Amino acid sequence: MRTILQLGLALAVGLALTLGTGLGADLVMEKSPSLLKTPLDASIGSRLSIVEPVEAAKEQEERYFLVGTLDDIKAVIVTDAGEQQTSLKGEIVFATEPDERGDLSLVLTRLNLVSSGVATKKGESGVIGLNLAEPEYKGTYDSRTGHFSAEFDSTLHYAQIDEIMGYIPSKSEEGDLFLSYTESMGGKIEGRLPEGMKAADEGEVTMNAEIRLELERTVVGSLRSMVVYLDITKLWWYLETSPSEILLVQPVFIGTGPSDPSATGTVYNTLLDGSAEIWDRCGTVRCIAIRSRTPVYINNNAYRVLNSEAEAAALRAEVNVADAVEVFVVEEWDPYYDGGGACWSSGTASAKIVTCDQQMAVPCPMPAGLWGCSVAEGGSCGDVNYYHLAHELGHALNLLHPGEYRSGMVAGSSGSILEPSGFCRDNPDVQSARNCRSASSPLLYSGRSTCTGSPDIMD
Ligand SMILES: [Zn+2]
Repeated sequence: MRTILQLGLALAVGLALTLGTGLGADLVMEKSPSLLKTPLDASIGSRLSIVEPVEAAKEQEERYFLVGTLDDIKAVIVTDAGEQQTSLKGEIVFATEPDERGDLSLVLTRLNLVSSGVATKKGESGVIGLNLAEPEYKGTYDSRTGHFSAEFDSTLHYAQIDEIMGYIPSKSEEGDLFLSYTESMGGKIEGRLPEGMKAADEGEVTMNAEIRLELERTVVGSLRSMVVYLDITKLWWYLETSPSEILLVQPVFIGTGPSDPSATGTVYNTLLDGSAEIWDRCGTVRCIAIRSRTPVYINNNAYRVLNSEAEAAALRAEVNVADAVEVFVVEEWDPYYDGGGACWSSGTASAKIVTCDQQMAVPCPMPAGLWGCSVAEGGSCGDVNYYHLAHELGHALNLLHPGEYRSGMVAGSSGSILEPSGFCRDNPDVQSARNCRSASSPLLYSGRSTCTGSPDIMD
């Protein structure tokens, strides 16, 4: 109840931005950081009541960020079938801090790169995504010459890895999580920024740089190295914090189109509201906005009811959008598989979610023998799973269930939205600061948005 109006507004604005302008034009709007600061500052009323750790505040005090939205970036990828050209989208962020002598030091805090894929010996690579393996990599900047560089490790994934290797299922009672095998690339960014650059709270600088990446840890090994050309790339200054981050979602429904009264996806707006609300609560820690594209329709009734993993796999293969998490909504699918919804390729640019309209119409009486589907366990039927998509998007943002472990991923907080619940119980309406800080995906990019909430658990 609390934020339905605000959410409606935020979503309407979000949709208008996405539909009207696309990724490239977001960069135009970010030319004016003052646009961002005013609504953010104005929305901080609730922040006053929150006791934040003093150290965290101190640490952020002198940090200024240089943020570049990357669009149509040229890259050459050396594959097992030779050199291939591709175009990348993504984002690069440096934190800057004055060192002891007052010179500027650069820290690479984000590098997200996404491509729709290249040809390899084993066929198309599918969507390629790359992001930093660790949160920070210290770089160097010479204020006399403007020369800068930073070395880093990155996580690489492309859809072909899933096709060849399959998935690693999670071990929790709710098997709604299918993890990808990933590779890693060592990288170096090197280039020029302005001479004598000083940190600022607004304005732009121009960067000319090259990123060179070499495969280090391999699973399939179709992509061997990469050179990314960042010519005349604009970076915008932001004070203290990174601007808002946006995760794009691409809904996919079964039907002939938006005027088809029997098309699936009837739960989608409700689930999207729940997702936007839960992730908006990251606000005081990190603004993460969930933004939806307009639905894509698949006119094939065979996908209305899914009875097996193979059918779900065939459905997932129907739509590949490079810069968004695809959310397929069918009428129903057997909850004995995955609690009626699941996320594949979590934390990667290939992340996809399959769910069903029964999330808001759990059959009565509850399915027998299913985890959580008894009154004693707190289960119920009917309109149950308001926060189901918010939970699955947590998986898309590289978060595991509480207590789970996998190298390169982070377990969600106990008692939070990342708690599994099964088909007959909703995921907890609880966000945590740790979930927010730990969320990552090559699909995240900077955009103009505001967050009004704050985490329920400040850990
Ligand atoms: Zn889950």
